[in-house]
Amino acid sequence: MPTIDAVYFYSRSPYKEAFDIDFPQESLETDMYKHRCLFCKVLTTEINGFLENHKADCEYRLSKLPRI
Ligand SMILES: [Zn+2]
Repeated sequence: MPTIDAVYFYSRSPYKEAFDIDFPQESLETDMYKHRCLFCKVLTTEINGFLENHKADCEYRLSKLPRI
């Protein structure tokens, strides 16, 4: 049953952990079709699903990453 593996692919680690798109977002005043992180103001198109693309002091990123 190879199809079962395909169904669960997207909800399975490490795929789920690699892409982080659950952060709070807000739309730009100048462009309602663009969104950015509510905390560090980086565009979602620049974040591209990667936690590392938030700014280093982003409140959301800090809450997700383990403390060094
Ligand atoms: Zn952020």
